[in-house]
Order: sequence, then C-alpha cells, then structure tokens
Amino acid sequence: MTSLDRSRLARLHERERAAFTAARPRSRELAERARAHMPGGVPMSWMVKWPGDFPVFVESAAGAHFTCVDGIDHVDLCLGDTGAMMGHSPAATVDAVTRQLSRGITTMLPTEDAIAVSTGLAERFGLPYWQFTLTATDANRHAIRYARLLTGRSKVVVHNWCYHGSVDEAFATLGEGGSTVDRPSNIGAPVPTSETTRVVEFNDLEALERALAHGDVAAILVEPALTNIGIVLPDDGYNEGVRELATRYGALLINDETHTICAGPGGYTRAHDLHPDLLVIGKSIGGGIPCGTFGFTAEIADRIARSVELEDIDVGGIGGTLAGNGLSMAAMKATLEQVMTPAAFEHMVPLADAWADGVQAGIDAVGADWHVTRLGARAEYNFSRTPSHDGQEAHDSDDFELQQYLHLYALNRGILLTPFHNMALMCPDTTTADVDAHSAMFLECVEELFS
Ligand code: PMP
Repeated sequence: MTSLDRSRLARLHERERAAFTAARPRSRELAERARAHMPGGVPMSWMVKWPGDFPVFVESAAGAHFTCVDGIDHVDLCLGDTGAMMGHSPAATVDAVTRQLSRGITTMLPTEDAIAVSTGLAERFGLPYWQFTLTATDANRHAIRYARLLTGRSKVVVHNWCYHGSVDEAFATLGEGGSTVDRPSNIGAPVPTSETTRVVEFNDLEALERALAHGDVAAILVEPALTNIGIVLPDDGYNEGVRELATRYGALLINDETHTICAGPGGYTRAHDLHPDLLVIGKSIGGGIPCGTFGFTAEIADRIARSVELEDIDVGGIGGTLAGNGLSMAAMKATLEQVMTPAAFEHMVPLADAWADGVQAGIDAVGADWHVTRLGARAEYNFSRTPSHDGQEAHDSDDFELQQYLHLYALNRGILLTPFHNMALMCPDTTTADVDAHSAMFLECVEELFS
C-alpha cells in the first residue's frame, strides 16, 4: 500500500490552482462579472463546486468535447452529468428540434411524436404506459405521489446516501438503530424525513424487510446500482430480492434509471430482466433538451384511472404546464430512435472498459489503495482498496480534498471528469484517443502524487 502525503497534496494543489487561473483569463473575467447578479457567479448553485477558483465558462460543445471561452479544447467525460450522455448536440436531435422550433414549442396539447416516444419506451423498458415531465426529479416525485395514492400509505424507502434529484423524501440517511436522519445538506426540509422515509443500506435485504414490515411503505425508490455515492453494484439476486419483498409487503417498486441507463439501451432494468412497477428516466433521453418520463404497468394505469377525478386533474400535484411539450417530444423521438441505439452502446461500453483499464494501470503502477468500478458506459474510481458494498462504505471512502485535486489536475490538461465523483461517462462520439489521453494523464498524475 502507498500512503498519501497530505502536505505534498496541498503543495501540488496550490500549483494546479495557479496554473488553472493563469490559463483561463476570460473565464475568470466572466466569473467576476457574473457575480454582480448571481450568487457565486453561477446560474445554478452547484456550479461553484467545480475545482479551480472560478468555473470554466463554455464557448461551445460538440460530441465528446467542449471548448471554453479561453479557447481550450476539453475531452468531456462528465457530459453534463448524463444530460449529454448521447454526446453534445447529436445531429439527429438537433435536426428534429430545429424543425419543431418553428412549428410551435409548447401548446399543452399532444403532438403525434408522443405516440412514437411512448411506444418506443414501452418496447425498450417493458412497461406499457408512460407520462412525461421536464426532469427526472419531477418524474420521481410523480411516481411517489401515485404510489401513495394507490397504496394509501405514507412512507418511501430509499437507500442510504442515494440521490434521486431534489425529491424531499430522498434526502434521508440511516441513523442509529435503523432510524431516519435528514441528510446534512437537506436545505429547508418541509418536514423531517423521519416522517416520510425509511432508509436501508444497499444490498441489505434483511433491513429492507424490517422497513417494509411496518406496513406503511407506499414505494421503494431505488437505483438498481447506486451511482451517486460512487458506483455500488448489487449483489447477485439483490434486485430480485427487492422485487420479491415489494410484492410480499404491498409496496410499489420504482426503478430510477436516470444514471443506470449506462448499462444498456433498456438500462439496468432490461439488461438484468428486472420488473419494477414504475420506471423513471430523465436527462439523457432528449439528447439534452429538458425532459423526463415515468412508465408503469397496466394494472397501475388502471388503478390510477379509477382513482383520479378529471375535474381536479390539473391541480392534483401531477403534471406541469410545459411537461410533454412538442419540443421535448421531438427531441426524445429523435434521440431514442436514432441516437440511443444498441449500436451506440456497443461503442460506448468497451470504451468505458478501456478507461477503467487505464485507471487500473495507474493504480497498479503506484500501488494506491484505490479501485475502479464499471457499469456499462460509465466507470468510477474510489479511494478504497475494495469495492463498496453499500452507500455508507462508499461515503466513508470519499476524500473531497483529494478528489478536487485530481479533477483540477485533469481539467488543467483538458479533461473534464464528473464533479462530486471520480466518474467518467462515454458517449457515442468518445474516441479511443480521448480515453488514452485520460489514461496517460492519470498515470502521470498518480506517479507525481505518490512518488
Ligand atoms: N435520479 C438520479 C438517479 C439522478 O442521478 C438524478 C440527477 N443526478 C436525478 C434523478 C435528477 O435529475 P434532474 O436533476 O435532471 O432532475
């Protein structure tokens, strides 16, 4: 095992911060101007969390690359944290959206594209009925609301250290004795999550059964492999066990495929023949145009139809003015039919493997106590010797200072990793040269860090 020298890390980090600032005068200038009317100089608060003393302003992005306002080309392994998983501005999506732009963007009436999209989603994921939103967050919220309506129960089960968007119920972590504790970052929680949520560790079916045995659980909201606290893969039979327990205890199972779509064209659900009651996906399916969706079984569709009054449908907490708009539908139709194809995954998955091999080679070269986890077109390294088995283990192996340094080192050499993780995602335009650039950069980085 090679241990990390913190003072060396701090020294190197200072060097990289200075190099970042020196190379990006225009981004720096824009960041200063931006502070006049946006806190932190960013349109969305997370954007201040990137490494470096100010965010990189983007000039343009295409395929697997983007260029910043200082004219630096970057290999983009973040891809908008999955929103651009099909590459930046894929041609088929751009064509369809361009056509739709001059034919009406939103009317609150259906367009014919919606038929093709829902039919395609049914074939892809194996659930017959679909409704649309603008984000995966909203799709999760709606799925939870329907689950409460249909079961007459109040609680949601989630995994410890999960993330499902800004869904109030999901900002919960596991406390002493199986209790529910608000996540440290839970800003302005409407009620303590202990009132809405039970938390279980990933890969712990016994804990799940205990949570369900209270008889008050409406829904189990899961990623079939955790991707938001590092990647945590399920034990053999774990997801099947979750399904079985959901059925036995009368809770509805919601698979959130927003990130695990990296496992294949039908996500982890189809790749592993899983059978959730509802399935949520957003981000990538519109090629970057805002859209989200949730699918459900015929039985659920029937129960919803019998439970919801038409007169109050517009104020019942499901839906939104812009949801299902013509532009989103055109984007989804083109992206799903022409871009997010089996052939795309045949290109992306081997590249993610090659990326992981490159990282593993770097880890082996210096003997770092780190590991790489692979999940289809996505891979991630963590600062522990063995893969995490649950969210808590993954959380405990995190090292923010080290992560920020590694991200900054990469950024200074024209490679963007997914922030808040050490994650890389491949898109249909990613090339072997892009992956090799990361492997070479990573080796140099860890050799210097551990030398
Ligand atoms: N579900 C999962 C699994 C996610 O990772 C995310 C976002 N990272 C969301 C839902 C929410 O997506 P959005 O922020 O686009 O609503």
